[in-house]
This record gives sequence, structure tokens and C-alpha cells, in this order.
Amino acid sequence: MKGFDLNRLVRESVQKLQPYSSARDEYVSDGSEMLFLDANENPFDNGVNRYPDPYQRSLKSLLAEQKGVSESQILLGNGSDEVLDLIYRAFCEPNRDNIITLPPTYGMYKVLSGINAIENREVLLTSDFEPDVDEILKIVDANSKLLFICSPNNPTGNSFKGKGIEKLLESFNGIVVVDEAYIDFSKDESWLSQLDKYPNLIVTQTLSKAFGLAGIRLGICYASEGTIGVLNKIKPPYNVNQLTQQRALERVLNQDLVNQEVQQILKERTELIKALDSLEFVSALYPTDANFVLAKVDDANKRYQQLLDKQVVVRNRSTQPLCENTLRFTVGTPEENKKLIAILKELK
Ligand SMILES: *Cc1c(COP(=O)(O)O)cnc(C)c1O
Repeated sequence: MKGFDLNRLVRESVQKLQPYSSARDEYVSDGSEMLFLDANENPFDNGVNRYPDPYQRSLKSLLAEQKGVSESQILLGNGSDEVLDLIYRAFCEPNRDNIITLPPTYGMYKVLSGINAIENREVLLTSDFEPDVDEILKIVDANSKLLFICSPNNPTGNSFKGKGIEKLLESFNGIVVVDEAYIDFSKDESWLSQLDKYPNLIVTQTLSKAFGLAGIRLGICYASEGTIGVLNKIKPPYNVNQLTQQRALERVLNQDLVNQEVQQILKERTELIKALDSLEFVSALYPTDANFVLAKVDDANKRYQQLLDKQVVVRNRSTQPLCENTLRFTVGTPEENKKLIAILKELK
């Protein structure tokens, strides 16, 4: 991206902001004999009586090493949802700016644009679920601040081709957010490796899917040092709690177990696809790079209800554009998958 100017994109109020300076900004415990009498905490140790590290240094240092980026290129949040919200609030002026989303895609982008009073300009994916690059570039204007690219995409499951994303990174005059919530299930390379090449690139990942930690809420944002600096300025000081930091650290250190589980999920996904493919009421299965499968069926409402009657909850995506009569199946454990397949085969 030529002549990229981060400051042109940052909201004026954020540029002028003097961020909150917390007690723990100045000192964190390093296990030595310091007396912390600065933050009005209860002094009696119960494991969580102290405020957490506002910059989550241990976790960031581990992620930085694993991903080959610098700690200053990472921001952590209370789930990707917080990370995404911070991105809106850093760059989009309410009632003036707009963002671009590419339905069918993750619903939170639209919800966040509503919350933040930002116009959401939608450009449908093509019929093979790829970004329509020419249409996107036609619809942007000087107030287009963010472009959301979800790859692998939810709910379609496919990864977008690199060429299209590259063209958008080179041509879009705002920030391109590549949401990689499902990247750990994909053979495609993460866009992380392109961070140094594209100052307008933000990559988000999460511990909610492959890492199996949806319950602790930990979202990750990778970007240029400048962009991370802006987001740090506006984030709540202690946005990632102590328990989350600890559990995330343990899990990220146990990469072998995560990889094993991902391999199992991918194996089960193959079984599920085979089973779905053999069903008469399934008319199409879409290629997936994620831990779910989108299937087109004869009558999604009917099939959804039939599964519900058998205590199986799937996601009916039929209201999404290009997704008429589709159900999204998350891949479960081998036992769950076996049950699901048996039930599917019994449906009349
Ligand atoms: C599940 C999901 C997330 C994860 O959100 P968290 O808040 O981190 O749990 C982000 N983006 C997409 C596209 C998702 O499907």
C-alpha cells in the first residue's frame, strides 16, 4: 500500500486522547520483595487479589515467539469481539464514516457498525463465495475506513484466494481486517507473514475455536506497531483478566495437544462430509477450511426442526444472502459425530 498514513484514519478524538494511566502501567510484580501499595487492592493473597498485567506481557511474549512477530505488534482483548469493537472505535467517526463487509459473513461486523453508528456497505460475495474485488473498490469512498475479510469465512467455510485479498490490500484506502478465527484448521498460510509488507493490514485470531478456550474470552489482534499503539490507547486498562491470561498461557504452551485435537476434528470433518454427501436431502456441500460444514438441503427449516426434535442443535443460515436452505454443522467429538450421522441417516 503506497503512501499509507495511519494518522489520517484515526478518529480525531482518539488522536487527542490522553489515555488512562493505571497503577499497574508503572510497575508489575516480578516476584521480588516490592511492596505494592499503589492500587488500593486488598493485600491478602488469594491468587487474584492484584490487578492483572494490563499489557499481558507473558502471553504476548509467547505468542510473539510462536508467530514470528514483535510483542509491539500484538493487542489482546476480551474475545475477538472486543478487539473488533476497539478497531471501530479507533478509526470510525459515528454518523460519518463507513465500513465494507462481504456477506454472507460473520454477523458481528454488522452489529458493531450498528452499535457504533457507522454505515455498513455490503458487497455480496460472488456465487463461488469469493470477494468481488471490482465491486468493493467501486463502492469505497474517502470515508471508508475498514474492510472486513473473514477467511476462512463464516458461515461458508472457504478461504478466499490470495490474489483478491492482495489486490484489496494494495488498493483499499483504509484498513483491511482479515479475520482468521478459523486459520488453525486451514492449510493456507496466515496473513500474519504479510504484516511488515502492508501497514494497513490487521489480522485477528482467537483462542475460541481451535484452541478450545471459548469460555475464557481471548481474542488476538496483530498489526503494525503504530496501529497497535492506537488500540492500546483506547482499550480498557485491565481488559484481559488474570484467570484468562493464565489459562491462555498454559494452553498456548501446550501446542501439541491443540494440534492433536485439530487433527481429530479434521478427521471427523471428513467423516461428516462423507455422510452428508450420501444423503438425498443434501443437494450441495461447500468446500470448508474450518471446523464446520455448510450444507444446502431441500428444506432447511424442516431439517433444522427434525434435528432439534432429536436434541441436535445446528445453525440454520438460510436468512443469509446466497445461503438459502443451508445448515451449518459444527464438527463435534467422534462420539457426537457418530450420533449426528446416525440421526441424519434416519431422517425422512
Ligand atoms: C467465532 C468467531 C470469532 C471469535 O470470536 P471471539 O469473540 O474471539 O470468541 C471471530 N470471528 C469469526 C468469524 C468467528 O466465527
